[in-house]
Amino acid sequence: MTATSPLKTLQTKIGGMDCGSCAKTVEAGLQKLPGITDINVVFATESLRLNYDPQQVSEKAIFDRIKTLGYTIEQTTAAIPPSEDSGCSHEHEHHHHHQHSTVEKTQKTNLTNWEFWIRNRRAQAVILAGLGLVLGLLTQHLALPIWLSRGFYGIGIIVAGFAIARAGLMELRLWRADMNLLMTISVIGAVILGDWFEGALVVFLFSLGTTLQTFTFSRTRNAIASLMDITPATATVKRDNNQEVTVRVEEIQVGEILTIRPGQKVALDGIVVSGNSAIDQSPITGESIPEDKQKGDRVFAGTLNQTGFLEVQVTHTANDTTVAKIVHLVESAQSSRAPTQQWVDKFAEIYTPIVIVSAIALTLIPPLIFAQPLDVWFYRSLVMLVIACPCALVISTPVSIVSAIGAATSQGILFKGGNGLETAGKLQSIAFDKTGTLTQGKPTVKKVYDLGELSANAVLLIGACLERRSEHPLAKAIVAQAEAEGIELETPESFTAYPGKGISGKFGNNLYFAGNRRLFADQNIALSASILSLLDDIEKLGQTPVLVSSNRGLLGIIALADGLRLEAGEAVHSLKQMGLKRLVMLTGDRTFVAAQIAEQLNLSEYKAELLPEDKLQEIQALRKFGTVGMVGDGINDAPALAAADISFAVGGIDIALETADVVLVGSDLRKLAYAVDLSRRTVSVIQQNVIFSIVTKALFLLLGTFGFVGLAVAVLADTGTSLIVTANGMRLFRSK
Ligand code: ADP
Ligand code: MG
Repeated sequence: MTATSPLKTLQTKIGGMDCGSCAKTVEAGLQKLPGITDINVVFATESLRLNYDPQQVSEKAIFDRIKTLGYTIEQTTAAIPPSEDSGCSHEHEHHHHHQHSTVEKTQKTNLTNWEFWIRNRRAQAVILAGLGLVLGLLTQHLALPIWLSRGFYGIGIIVAGFAIARAGLMELRLWRADMNLLMTISVIGAVILGDWFEGALVVFLFSLGTTLQTFTFSRTRNAIASLMDITPATATVKRDNNQEVTVRVEEIQVGEILTIRPGQKVALDGIVVSGNSAIDQSPITGESIPEDKQKGDRVFAGTLNQTGFLEVQVTHTANDTTVAKIVHLVESAQSSRAPTQQWVDKFAEIYTPIVIVSAIALTLIPPLIFAQPLDVWFYRSLVMLVIACPCALVISTPVSIVSAIGAATSQGILFKGGNGLETAGKLQSIAFDKTGTLTQGKPTVKKVYDLGELSANAVLLIGACLERRSEHPLAKAIVAQAEAEGIELETPESFTAYPGKGISGKFGNNLYFAGNRRLFADQNIALSASILSLLDDIEKLGQTPVLVSSNRGLLGIIALADGLRLEAGEAVHSLKQMGLKRLVMLTGDRTFVAAQIAEQLNLSEYKAELLPEDKLQEIQALRKFGTVGMVGDGINDAPALAAADISFAVGGIDIALETADVVLVGSDLRKLAYAVDLSRRTVSVIQQNVIFSIVTKALFLLLGTFGFVGLAVAVLADTGTSLIVTANGMRLFRSK
């Protein structure tokens, strides 16, 4: 949100949705308020996100509308007692003031199975309805008066059916039909036909089904939430006179010193100022081998200090940590819609009205035209109404997406949306940036060549002063080398970056350059034959030369080398095995250097000496052969990342978060293969789910129309399909 925009964003959790269509109800209900745009309600995560114009509608009015629709605002601050969420307990409302923070601490209801049944209202209703059903059956079979058994059935119907009917009526007010309304009509119809037992059975089975589903769902939700709820609430800081005090993380400012003991979790992002320790970063990177940290290294909130004592200077406040960004990202990814879901939603929208109209026709036409008995066809149309709920179909996609995103997150792969999750599996080719992607991106200065005019130190000084303005890994290495040698650096008065070429800057009246041959060709600075052959020699060693000059001529050359990422070869190998057709390295570096690296990685294709815009063209060329992925670090490859069908970012999470569709947090390239595989599995689970739910619907529609299926079986089929679809989607989260 920019400061000038009048729109505000509201993001919250909603309780009481038992089916995908509830999400539609909330959307439709909010749509009617003025000044609301971009509403997105996701059943699978119980989340609501919308933009609103505060001058037209207040936050309170939005919350009130949600409550009148019959849902609860599950506001998520640490102070909330475990709520009776999930079921249709509309009476229970937790309305806490909303915070516009990036991270919301989610206090999840971690009920045990047993507590769930005791405390959840829907669950209680199921038990009571079951009891009514059993007592009704018993009295019926003992041939006691019919009013007694009907009484028991009636109690069952009312106890369990109340919440259903209430939700159904809400729908009717919006001129929409959801499963609650359809079930209500069916049950009332059954009672009218004198089938009290069947009515009670339908209510019981339906409540049982939705409750079971809420239960399975909330367990996965909790698992995913706990995955992300990994930062401690308090931390120890050194304050006045170096006293250690433990305070809430929100109170800690940038620049304060945290003390972290072995076995403690890091509470905030920071830089180690003293001590040594191994840190388990798996909670955010998925990488299980601990990393050694010492003075000057970055540590991240949510990671676990294992062996030593550390003092860490805080660099980001609690709302701003890497893990906070990750949590935010994952939350919005889960609520984004995959392409398949958009299709499914549209289908569900027309499916229900069509079936309702058919049900009415089924009641009227056979009796009126073919003189068939009315009660038989009325009953069949009730069955049809039950089958008209597209519930399983509607949840089939989101449930799979949510659990796949959960699985990916636990591996340190962040998908920014459902879109990427569907695209990754279709990849035909992947292009890799070289520096910072296939290589570690931590080049080091190997040698500084002077040309006699200035000393090597002076060459390094000029290079480093210029490069202070650049984010490029080569630039950082040059600056680091100068600092290590204790050279005092100045900042140029003005500077210009030439992406893929180098940088220039002004000191006093003199203009200086640092970069590659292209930069020098552009600036018409001639290079002698002996220099050119020296450059070739450096490149044949696999090193990258950075030429340093003033506007009068070359002053010296800084040669740098960058190691390969250790896992790069393995990553390339497994991607090849997964059947990806083309794996290409794209680099702005020279052909010699590129060839050497390609050979080490067993990559058959590489394109060297590319400018950022050339990389983009290469991507566009690859797109002719199918879906293309681009893997990069965001430096000099942002246009190419944007042009690819799906982009993966490694390295610095800050830039990567903005540019790429998928972020590999631990920069482990092997996770690419995992992401592709997960995506393929997700797509196939979604397909299975969609096909399964459509086929069962069609089958039961047919059977119901010809009277082979009763109400109870139709309900069983409906909730059963939903449960199977849910369980199938959850598999993605469980599997590793
Ligand atoms: P890649 O990441 O594919 O290696 P880049 O586009 O980042 O390619 O860089 C290409 C080449 O441009 C580098 O090898 C280097 O020669 C030159 N270059 C880019 N930026 C700088 C810089 N800031 N200083 C010196 N050379 C640079
Ligand atoms: Mg790069």
